[in-house]
Amino acid sequence: HVMLTGEGVLKFALEQGFEKEDLLTDKSKASYEKWLEKSEYKPIPNIELHDTIGILAIDKKGNISGACTTSGLAYKMHGRVGDSPIIGAGLYVDNDYGAAVATGMGELVMRSVGSFLVVELMRQGMSPAAACKEAVMRIVRKQNFEELQVGYLAIDKSGQIGAYSLTKGFLYTKTSESGTEMVNSEYFKG
Ligand code: ASP
Repeated sequence: HVMLTGEGVLKFALEQGFEKEDLLTDKSKASYEKWLEKSEYKPIPNIELHDTIGILAIDKKGNISGACTTSGLAYKMHGRVGDSPIIGAGLYVDNDYGAAVATGMGELVMRSVGSFLVVELMRQGMSPAAACKEAVMRIVRKQNFEELQVGYLAIDKSGQIGAYSLTKGFLYTKTSESGTEMVNSEYFKG
């Protein structure tokens, strides 16, 4: 299997030893109840500077791996699938060339198959930073992105990294033998 959904994934997870639990916190419940007062379907970018947690790594042999996890967009429509679980949209890893991960408004990322695009651009010779910027510029040129955020992070086979976001405020963490630092991504609009 590549992707399981709904009842099928629940059954599979239980068979694998996971336990079903309610992850709703009192804080989230209160904030959802407040949102219900207006029920406005209007995602706000950068509430916490990021949403999806995306991780890219390279080992000493140059092997690349990546992962991402998200709760999806806050107050999303029932049944909505975001970019994070879609291979090539929210995450893509090609151990021959590099990897990319996305955060922000999943619809903008899915329509442009963003993470695959970043890796494909690196395969054609672009640096991770230039590839992330070009993937954001495709959104700028083709989609209505008003007040929305998308951030891409990428790493290539040589360990070089890059990032670019649509809107100011995308921060990422870089860890190497010399330590960990927080980096402010370059962006299209402030
Ligand atoms: N990309 C996610 C989505 O659209 C939101 C996030 O960044 O967590 O579902």
